[in-house]
Amino acid sequence: MKINQKRFQEHIETLAKIGKIGETGVCRLAHSKEDREAVDVVRLWMEEAGLDTHIDGFGNLVGRIEGKEKDKPILMLGSHIDSQPYGGRYDGTLGALGAIEVVHTMKEEGITPNRSIEVICFADEEGSRFNKGVFGVRGIIGQLEEGELERKDKNGVTRLEALREFGVEPDLSQSPVYKPGDIEAFLELHIEQGPVLESQDKPVGIVSAISGPIWLTVTLEGFAGHAGSVPMNLRQDAFLGASIITKEFNELVRNEGTPNTVGTVGSVQTFPNSRNIIPEKVEFTIDLRDIDLDARTKLEKKLYEIIERTSKELNLEYSISEDTRSDPRYCADWIKDIMKTEDEQLGYDSPTLMSGPFHDALFMSYISDYGMIFVRCEKGISHNPLEFAEMEDMEKGVELLYHTAMNIAQS
Ligand SMILES: [Zn+2]
Repeated sequence: MKINQKRFQEHIETLAKIGKIGETGVCRLAHSKEDREAVDVVRLWMEEAGLDTHIDGFGNLVGRIEGKEKDKPILMLGSHIDSQPYGGRYDGTLGALGAIEVVHTMKEEGITPNRSIEVICFADEEGSRFNKGVFGVRGIIGQLEEGELERKDKNGVTRLEALREFGVEPDLSQSPVYKPGDIEAFLELHIEQGPVLESQDKPVGIVSAISGPIWLTVTLEGFAGHAGSVPMNLRQDAFLGASIITKEFNELVRNEGTPNTVGTVGSVQTFPNSRNIIPEKVEFTIDLRDIDLDARTKLEKKLYEIIERTSKELNLEYSISEDTRSDPRYCADWIKDIMKTEDEQLGYDSPTLMSGPFHDALFMSYISDYGMIFVRCEKGISHNPLEFAEMEDMEKGVELLYHTAMNIAQS
């Protein structure tokens, strides 16, 4: 391997100690004291790798090395180092520390890249503290919304106050930092957070696209009544409606979806939620994802038919509100081609797979071509202290990132 495995491993292990909970967990909430401690440590590693560093007005940590041809669009690499409140050691950190290892290896090989390279640790990817994430990446691409700095965490601390405490004077006027054409490619290495690579017995995968979710909230209204007195044929049971819709939606996705379609009813609220009252009102959420937009649209239409038919049959009123609608975002073919060629030379035989979860890269895709590399993680567990990836697998991921980055940096 070209990369320095020992150094990479040390970095992963050292960072896992900051905000450590239990034996294997991590809690580094966005803009927190632990997050700042991590940024300071990672910043030193960036500088050792030959990068000039700064923290921008959104809290992103950015390192840059000038290329020989300063006018060329840059190559950007990175991920995030904040975590879920009860998170794992590798989500985000693999891609952030892997990117630094790539640049450090170039330095040791005596290579000055043709293009300038930036390595970025995005601020608040996870979103759990302020209930809205990918703050740093949305900042640099110009997708911040009204009131971002006024959002509060559960202790009443605003993002503005948290960022100041973190040591950054927020400056949203910097947004957007980059415009289309400034960045030749963005590359992100990440643990898979799913079971596909493990099931195929492969350490590394090349990502084809990040699927786009539709998030809906469905409300069904029937009529309450005593569970002991209302005969079955006179009931308007909203929870029964939700159950039938959930079952039929599951069958629809299984039977008529593509291999990549997934559908989930994840949250259900029933009113008045009492054991001896027929449920009068039920609210439940639907998450439907695919990388094939036409396939997703087809299923969405059929889902509406199921809701309509079931409501009619059970004499229920229904309403559907749309919370999120994101399109799938495809990795650039030319970047995947480079990855495949480099992968072949490394002898990994990595499969191509899609990403169900979103990442910082999803947002970068609006201003730059992008590519992603996944690393196998045990049982697909993530956002949990049990999250685990083999060091050897992660090193292979970084090695593929290195060769891909070299190829693009020198072009
Ligand atoms: Zn992540």
